[in-house]
Parts: sequence; C-alpha cells; structure tokens
Amino acid sequence: MGKIAVVGSINMDVVNRVERHPLPGETVSGLETAYIPGGKGANQAVAAARAGAQVLMIGAVGQDPFGGPLVEALGKAGVNTAGVLEKEGTSGMAFITVDAHGENNIILSPGANGRLSAEDMEAGLIGAAGGSGGAGLGGVLLQNEIPWETTAAAVRRARTYGAAVYLNPAPARKVEDEVLALVDVLVVNETEAAAISGLEVASREHAEAAAEWLLGRGVGEVIVTLGAAGVVYASKEGERISAPAFRVEAVDTTAAGDTFIGAYAAARDRGASVQEALRWANAAAAIAVTRPGAQSSIPSADEVNRWLE
Ligand code: ADP
Repeated sequence: MGKIAVVGSINMDVVNRVERHPLPGETVSGLETAYIPGGKGANQAVAAARAGAQVLMIGAVGQDPFGGPLVEALGKAGVNTAGVLEKEGTSGMAFITVDAHGENNIILSPGANGRLSAEDMEAGLIGAAGGSGGAGLGGVLLQNEIPWETTAAAVRRARTYGAAVYLNPAPARKVEDEVLALVDVLVVNETEAAAISGLEVASREHAEAAAEWLLGRGVGEVIVTLGAAGVVYASKEGERISAPAFRVEAVDTTAAGDTFIGAYAAARDRGASVQEALRWANAAAAIAVTRPGAQSSIPSADEVNRWLE
C-alpha cells in the first residue's frame, strides 16, 4: 500500500439552498446559507483519506479568513497538509446554489488555486516521494481546478516516480494526446468525455464508444461516470465492466464524482480488484449524494462497509 498524493484545488464552498434557480436578471430568496470546505482536489483527498488511504495534499490557500479553516478541515479528515502553501490574496471559492431537486449551479473563483505553479507542485511531490525516488508513492490524483500547466507537469512527474496517474479533467477541457498517453486512470463524466473526444456522450453506448476512443489515445483505464446510471469501465487490457449505481434518493450531488474517485483510488491502492473498487466507490458516492455539501457528505470506510452489508 502506497501513499496517495493529490495535487489540486482547495475551496470554500458558499452554498445557498433555493426552491428553484433564478433566471437571468431574477432574484430568488435563499432558504439557507452554509460555508462548506470543498474544491475537487481537497474533496478527492478527503474521500481517499476517509476510505482509509494515507493521503498528502499539495495545493494552496489564500491569506484570508478561509485559508486556516480550509487547512484545518483537511487535517481533521486525516489528510496530511504539509504540501499546502499559503499564498497572497483570496482562497479558492465556489458559490453554489442547490435547488429542491438537488441540482446545482456553480461559480468558481480560483483564488490561490490559480497561483499553484509547477515549481510548487514539484516541491510538494518531492516531499511526498520522501527522497525514496517515489517508491512509496502509490498514486497521484489530478483534476482541472489549478493551472493546466501545473497539472500536465504533475502527470509527467508522477510518471517518473512510477506512481499511478489518476486524471479527472473537471471542469471539462480538451486534453492533449501526449498527456492522455501518460494517464493510468482517466475518470470523466459525460460532459468531460465529450469535451475530450469530441464525440456526443448522452447514453451508455456513447460512453462506451468514448471510452474506446480514449483507450486509443493511450490511456490505461477509462471510467465514465453516468450519475444515477453508475459507470462504464474499459481498460487497455481488454476488460469491459458496467457497474450500476446504487438506488438512493439524491439530496445534493455536489462531490459525487470526487467521492467516487477518492474511494476508487483508495480501494485500488489497498489491493481491491477493479470490480470490487468500482462497487465500493459507487457505494461511497451514493451515500454522498444523500447528504448535503462537499466534504461534509463524504462517508468513512466504516460507513461504506456497514451500508454494503
Ligand atoms: P459528476 O458529479 O462528476 O458529474 P456523476 O454525476 O457521474 O459525476 O456521479 C459520479 C458517481 O456518483 C456516479 O458514478 C455514481 O456512483 C454516484 N452517483 C451520482 N448521482 C447518483 C444518484 N442519483 N444515485 C446514486 N449514485 C449516484
């Protein structure tokens, strides 16, 4: 079992619950407002730590009232925060509105995340590898809420350490072929699969076709998450799996994908088979959608195990 490093975003989510989303130019009344630690990087770090992995976070917060509490929240979840820098200016913030159906709208303000450089990443990963040439580093988890140059450089650096590279290019963007060729596990939802492949991805069959396209670019394993329909999995070794989601009543889908990825990486890291890890991660994500918020909704390994009994 190795260490998992996450190089990515740390945000304060300012969450407003509303009956329905406002139309352009319209004002609606909020039912409740909350500050909840989030950010795709931090969420995935918390998900992996709660799933039982040893996790190091590499990222940045601002010198504002949110920086301290954000680092504290990671620490409380069991994430090692030695790789979190403090930068001038604001912390990353997400202004999230959740309606009565659990659908969300998000405005993302990158803040310190936007100032995480390739040099910061290098220093953090060297620390994570612990001078062992990377021998202790099992996996590196990456998203798209820090500068893309930093993420692309982290893909290359993780490769030199022999760590499994997990890439979740969210929010969606096109990913260069030379980066795709270095990715061990690419996790995308339908929007992200479409943005990368240029294919329409609106059904399971489409997702399967997009996965084949991505394998053709040299990705080792592709997981396309399909919300309440679960996931499709395809590997370059020829494995094809369709793993159904668990039936739950969705309250808030924030961090569903992040919970899935962190739980999946942790399960694989502890030696679970792909099939087991997919089921376990689907369960963790299903629990997360039944609860409000980002990090606050992510279940522990004990909870997931009890839920699956
Ligand atoms: P993202 O949040 O990144 O768009 P998805 O919506 O595809 O990702 O959800 C990621 C995973 O979360 C799914 O593969 C599934 O395991 C779980 N999930 C999401 N929505 C639901 C739901 N309504 N019911 C059960 N599981 C869900």
